[in-house]
Amino acid sequence: MAPNDAPPDPGDDDSPSSSVAAVMPFGDEARQLLDAAPDAMIVVGPDARIAFANARTEELFGYERDEIVGQPLDTIIPERFRASHVNYFARYAEKPSTRPMGASVDLYGRRKDGTEIPVEVSLSPVRASSGPAFCAAIRDISERKRIEAIAKLNADRLAGAVETIQDAFALFDADDKLVMCNSVYRGLIGEGLVGPILGKPYEELLDAWMSDLALGTDEERLQFRSERLASRSSPTASFDVRTRDGRSLRVTDRRGIDGGIVKTVWDLTDDVRLASELREARAAAEAASEAKSEFLSSMSHELRTPLNAILGFAQLLARDKKEPLSTRHRERVDQILRGGEHLLHLIDDILDLSRIEAGRVSISTEPVSVTEVLEHVKTTLDSVAARAGIRLEIVPPEPGFPLASADRTRFLQIVTNFTSNAIKYNRPGGSARLTSSRREPGRLRVSVADTGLGIPEDKQDKIFQPFQRAGQETGPIEGTGIGLVITKRLAELMGGRVGFTSAPGTGSEFWVELPTHVQAPEQRPLRAARTPGAALLEDPAARLVLYIEDNPANMNFMRDVLGDFERIELVTAPTAEMGIEIAAARRPDLVIMDINLPGISGFEALRRLRERSHTKEVPVIALSAAASERDKQRGLQAGFYRYLTKPVKLDELLEAFELLLLARD
Ligand code: ADP
Repeated sequence: MAPNDAPPDPGDDDSPSSSVAAVMPFGDEARQLLDAAPDAMIVVGPDARIAFANARTEELFGYERDEIVGQPLDTIIPERFRASHVNYFARYAEKPSTRPMGASVDLYGRRKDGTEIPVEVSLSPVRASSGPAFCAAIRDISERKRIEAIAKLNADRLAGAVETIQDAFALFDADDKLVMCNSVYRGLIGEGLVGPILGKPYEELLDAWMSDLALGTDEERLQFRSERLASRSSPTASFDVRTRDGRSLRVTDRRGIDGGIVKTVWDLTDDVRLASELREARAAAEAASEAKSEFLSSMSHELRTPLNAILGFAQLLARDKKEPLSTRHRERVDQILRGGEHLLHLIDDILDLSRIEAGRVSISTEPVSVTEVLEHVKTTLDSVAARAGIRLEIVPPEPGFPLASADRTRFLQIVTNFTSNAIKYNRPGGSARLTSSRREPGRLRVSVADTGLGIPEDKQDKIFQPFQRAGQETGPIEGTGIGLVITKRLAELMGGRVGFTSAPGTGSEFWVELPTHVQAPEQRPLRAARTPGAALLEDPAARLVLYIEDNPANMNFMRDVLGDFERIELVTAPTAEMGIEIAAARRPDLVIMDINLPGISGFEALRRLRERSHTKEVPVIALSAAASERDKQRGLQAGFYRYLTKPVKLDELLEAFELLLLARD
């Protein structure tokens, strides 16, 4: 913009060319107008000096107006641009025209303090008596540049983030044209499309991509294509495909708020391979476990047979009265017997454990009295304890102590194992003490404490692992190192757990915690029930009983049962849904409910009856073929007044009728 004239003399104020009047005659009004302009405005004379500057120029460049007027234009141009400006200005002088703002790129102005400011400049030639002159409007665009820089930074960040996504990512606009993608996506589209793909419509990209997919027949390809295009209008779409080179991809399209679509493509190849490897590994493990169980049970059989001979004949030898053994031989035979018994024990334990681990042990829970278990264990082990010189003591549970909900045999096995260990790993004159306590609601604990050797601290974390004998491997006390593993697994199968504390040299305490048995709701005493049903015969009131049952034979049976009671009317419903309607309409005195019904189950039906105001008070008895203790507990917990099981026990049924029908008066 500035001719490369000789440098001006800053003090040369009298120079006629530096006066605006010499360039163009400005009236006061024009000055005021220019001063009010939001941009800096300068007039540059033919001598490339600033002939006029408005008020905004002062602010923008930091000069007083008097300081700047008369100075060469270069004064406000950074040094690094001055040379190019000379040429530019020369060209402009030859062919002056109006150039709008923003026509030039990245211009900078130089402030009085030497700092640079980004500016945008528009030029217009002005008529001057002394030669070509022009007016420049200079706009400070620092703020715009700052915002542009932030926007660019954000865009770069976004592009960077998209690029770092491991999966393919693409963004389409509302016209379904690609606006952004990462290189993984570019790679997916493949070489089918050469050159940049931004701005391409989805359909074109789809065609290019499809050449890479394993899609079978032409028909399948056409169908795939039309499905893809059709799904573009739905809010989300997800589908899986395989590529020709065997990769598995999952594509998900989600519609964004601006109507565009965000597409992600996950490469599931590894996951699919892993899943199939896992499946195979699981099948192999199951087969191996099956083979192991079979091996163990046949091994057990194979071992037992000769063991039977060894133990059998050893016993015969020991008892032979005709040819009694010498003391030396007697001792040796005793060794054989002890060794054989140990082996038998080991076989039993290993088999038990392998059955548990293969999930072949069925646990049937029932209410079990803790007192009974403790007494049973004491009776079994009293003689063993006496032989070892150990005092075996049980502390009977307090009155009203809850029943355990457990498999009786397995519960006994656990406590027996703890107690036998407490005797084995004790010291002469020591004691083993069996106690019980209530734990958090719904749990109880049986503990066996001894005054024995305790377990070395560094071995404590391993004793529930198979064959870990916590340092006893080389000691004189016989054992297999399996007992505790079995107790742990059994307790877990019954919904309980085991644990211990041990002080080496002082003693140990092993415990098992089990769920308590939930008592049935308290029942009101029967009124004058001499034989079941007798009170019903004397009942003068008319009663209505609804039986919900889908099996006609069972319905007929109930009809026969209630046929004896003239004043009891029986209505039946083959589904729970119908039963609920009948109950609401006729308000029976009692409902008998089967559990396994064709539609909703007896449990759900009970819940619905309880929800309705008309039926919520009606007593409901369950009569079901699901007869385990767990089923019964579940039934009572759900709110059935009684949970009776099939085949029906008539006395029980009639008792329940009496209780519930007569109690309603
Ligand atoms: P076994 O008694 O057949 O070795 P267990 O599985 O019953 O196997 O016990 C594992 C190990 O835990 C035992 O070998 C013993 O070292 C230790 N142990 C178990 N109970 C006690 C106890 N009451 N006192 C000290 N050590 C015990």
